[in-house]
Amino acid sequence: MAFNDGWNRRTFLGALGAMAGMVFGKGKTFAFSPAAGGAAAPVSGFGASGNVYEELGVTTVINGQGTMTMLGGSLGRLEVEAVMALAAQHFVSIPELEVAAGKRIAEMLKLPDGYSAIVTSGAAAAMTSGLAGILTGNDPVFIEQLPDLTGMKSEVIIQKSHRNPFDHQLRATGAKLVVVESREDVKRAINPKTAMMHFTNFANADGQIKAEEWVKLAHENQILAFIDAAADTPPVSHLWDYANMGYDLIAFSGGKAIRGPQCAGILMGKKELVANALLNNSPHEDTLGRSSKVGKEEIVGMVKALELYLKEDHEALNKEWWRRLDAISVQITRVPGVSTAFSVPDVANHVPHLEIFWDPRKISISPHDASHALRAGKPSIVLATSERGLFTNSFMLQPGEEKIIAEQLTQLFKAHGLAG
Ligand SMILES: *Cc1c(COP(=O)(O)O)cnc(C)c1O
Repeated sequence: MAFNDGWNRRTFLGALGAMAGMVFGKGKTFAFSPAAGGAAAPVSGFGASGNVYEELGVTTVINGQGTMTMLGGSLGRLEVEAVMALAAQHFVSIPELEVAAGKRIAEMLKLPDGYSAIVTSGAAAAMTSGLAGILTGNDPVFIEQLPDLTGMKSEVIIQKSHRNPFDHQLRATGAKLVVVESREDVKRAINPKTAMMHFTNFANADGQIKAEEWVKLAHENQILAFIDAAADTPPVSHLWDYANMGYDLIAFSGGKAIRGPQCAGILMGKKELVANALLNNSPHEDTLGRSSKVGKEEIVGMVKALELYLKEDHEALNKEWWRRLDAISVQITRVPGVSTAFSVPDVANHVPHLEIFWDPRKISISPHDASHALRAGKPSIVLATSERGLFTNSFMLQPGEEKIIAEQLTQLFKAHGLAG
């Protein structure tokens, strides 16, 4: 539950002076409030059991699939929650806070001169507001007018293999996507209506034009370049690599591997573009981004999450992720017919993955049915399916959950084992 990231209760209580958060003990739940001088206030009514999901009748799951927004992204860090609770105690100008937080983020990441950042409600919102800012500049008439692009540029160039469900966030501005494949296509596509060239980082391997060449090509033609790098930490260096590569705007999710607030992301880039993005975003009214509200709590929580993420021992984390998958693999491959394979995607979710597959002559269950059985089990386990079996990663697992997954899989395979 809340104590899932190496914090034990004693450490937590020890640090209480400056903190706020939740503690569960002896059947009672306490919420610490800085406003109440750090005193523990018992939670009564909803939440009193310590398991809000159970109280609502919603089943929590063991997440062997990774940082899926559909499953809640990632689990928060207590220190981030504590800082968010502190933020909740005061009123503040949100635009002023955005600028200050962005400055701190740019400093922490040592972004190049002339770069700043804002906290958005996620990478998806960063895409919409970032493009909106490119289209409108700081013109209040244009800002109100979106998604009617009369008088503005109106086209975004994107490689065919880079199209994905998140480009809806670009289309929401009213801009039209112009799909290209080759360098020649790009040259032909560029015209006075071109607002920017968009790159989907996880599709880097699939497109003819790679990340570095894409930004060069854009700038040679005086076009701005945007990169969606939402799920692209680890490695941590990706947080500054694309700014150093020259991308004008870069979007990251805050609530994936960085483990910031679930409804947070970062839009970083050239100062003026970031400022214009903010003008198109909440809290400003009559804007396209007004529906992507980001609160003082998320803004401050994002700064803290980034600080903690940068300090983390990434090598140790990676080792632990491998250890968990090894543990699962060793146990389940004892069942006759079960095989496993390890892999690490080059970019996006660049963490160890384990594919699990089995000989249909020895085990008679389809990958689809196996995934459903795990989901319906107690505890409920979510793994992805692959063409030949199941697919899992371990970076969102909580301590000990790898053992549960190995045990449930072993039982499932044995239950569907064919004699002989
Ligand atoms: C998750 C993701 C997004 C959306 O990010 P949010 O932070 O959830 O808004 C956008 N693009 C890609 C490639 C993603 O993986």
